[in-house]
Amino acid sequence: MTELIGFVGLGNMGGPMAANLVRAGYRVRGFDLNPASLESAREAGIEVVGSALDAAETAGTVVTMLPAGRHVVEVWTQLADALPSGTLLIDSSTVDVESARKAHALAEAQGCPSIDAPVSGGTGGAKAGTLTFMAGGSQAAFARAEPILKAMGRSIFHCGEAGAGQAAKICNNMILGISMIGVCEAFALGEKLGLSRQALFDVASVSSGQCWSLTTYCPVPGPVPTSPANNAYRPGFAASLMLKDLRLAQAAAGAAGASTPLGAEAVQLYALFEGLGHGGEDFSAIINLLRGRHTG
Ligand code: NAD
Repeated sequence: MTELIGFVGLGNMGGPMAANLVRAGYRVRGFDLNPASLESAREAGIEVVGSALDAAETAGTVVTMLPAGRHVVEVWTQLADALPSGTLLIDSSTVDVESARKAHALAEAQGCPSIDAPVSGGTGGAKAGTLTFMAGGSQAAFARAEPILKAMGRSIFHCGEAGAGQAAKICNNMILGISMIGVCEAFALGEKLGLSRQALFDVASVSSGQCWSLTTYCPVPGPVPTSPANNAYRPGFAASLMLKDLRLAQAAAGAAGASTPLGAEAVQLYALFEGLGHGGEDFSAIINLLRGRHTG
């Protein structure tokens, strides 16, 4: 019999992820608060229903892909109260580590195995089924989830116990946010010094300044034709989403007593950029703030 998966949260990421589960041969029953998301989900072959509980009922596995921690805790509270023990719960939203652990505890109290499995790869990766998943939870829960995650992603990592997936996600994105600002500062300085973009790129991309923000996602037009800088900084990965992840990293650092001064500075810069009305631009557009060439 075809395995049934419940899917709650069919937005920009969840919609295409659920569609890939259908493509992989799963039966998917989905719910979203937004009628437009339900309509596109229906077109992708998802059975749409009127509540999270309806989506989850009789499903062996339920996946949630929601905006933030409070949504996940709210939905998992409803589910954990109603689902039979043994139902596998997977949350792929990006949320604070504390909410992730709270959600795991709700599931555990009901005898439901669970994993936090946030993703990287953006909406392009969600559509193409090439997302990276970083999972936290027991080995047994991960083993059950892995084939389902493989239907939506390419690289799947088990990072440790409950919350470890979210921890990996926010640590990675803190590196990304800080390194992008560093690369932008270098290009802005190079411009003032009369150095061509291509010359700086050629040197730094094979020297010790080499990093993903430079070689894959170069924040100036030219050296890397596929980077958003060549496409009027259309996202890509929006600055407001980067700010969300950087804030999650700061919240976790505060709770854990970790010192992250550059992470804190990155929050300030992205908050300023968003406040000036640029939250919808790609996060590499922060170079315009550093050049003093932003409008807002
Ligand atoms: P989105 O806003 O497009 O989708 C979230 C969906 O959840 C919406 O359709 C909303 O209606 C629905 N929703 C909210 N509360 C609900 C509830 N109680 N019951 C049912 N549905 C509910 O956001 P998205 O871009 O799909 O992102 C989802 C998550 O993935 C976020 O945590 C985000 O940080 C993370 N993420 C996004 C990207 C990206 O590039 N968009 C990349 C990596 C991770």
